[in-house]
Amino acid sequence: MGNIQQKVLTESSSKGPSASMPVWRAKAEAKCRFFAWTLLHKKILTANNLIKRHWPNDLICKLCSNELETPTHLCKDCDFTKQAWAFLKQWLGLTVIDNIGINGSLHSYWRRCRTKIDKSQRKTFDGVMIYFWWNIWKERNRRTFENKSLQPKEVAFLCKEDVEQYQAATRSY
Ligand SMILES: [Zn+2]
Repeated sequence: MGNIQQKVLTESSSKGPSASMPVWRAKAEAKCRFFAWTLLHKKILTANNLIKRHWPNDLICKLCSNELETPTHLCKDCDFTKQAWAFLKQWLGLTVIDNIGINGSLHSYWRRCRTKIDKSQRKTFDGVMIYFWWNIWKERNRRTFENKSLQPKEVAFLCKEDVEQYQAATRSY
């Protein structure tokens, strides 16, 4: 009995929903937090998920034209995404996470990065991460639906602006 309880507890605590809770306290707009929650549960409508729903679509990542478009690829492993993330880390002084390995899920990468960030800055960092994923997703949609494309540096810049705008709007005087 004890063992089973233990197992249930372990399994539920290792699952996405409870482990992703910092998303809800992150310094980012509600729509972006909701998007991040969906993304961390791998439910955003990337090519691989559209196929599961039997919606015909192009399977290849719109950012690199090289790999299968999955949530993890799009928001972490894609070359385009890595370049944009490198700009953003540099601009926001996040070089402390430069040596964090990017293997594994998006969720585990995020958790590893958080451990390097001072506790007082974590909600801000979570906001940066969320706005980054949000802007990558917007670029993917820009390419998919509008036939327009930006460079990694431009996407990183838009992300930086989102982060700064959010901070300016919520700053208490
Ligand atoms: Zn890609």
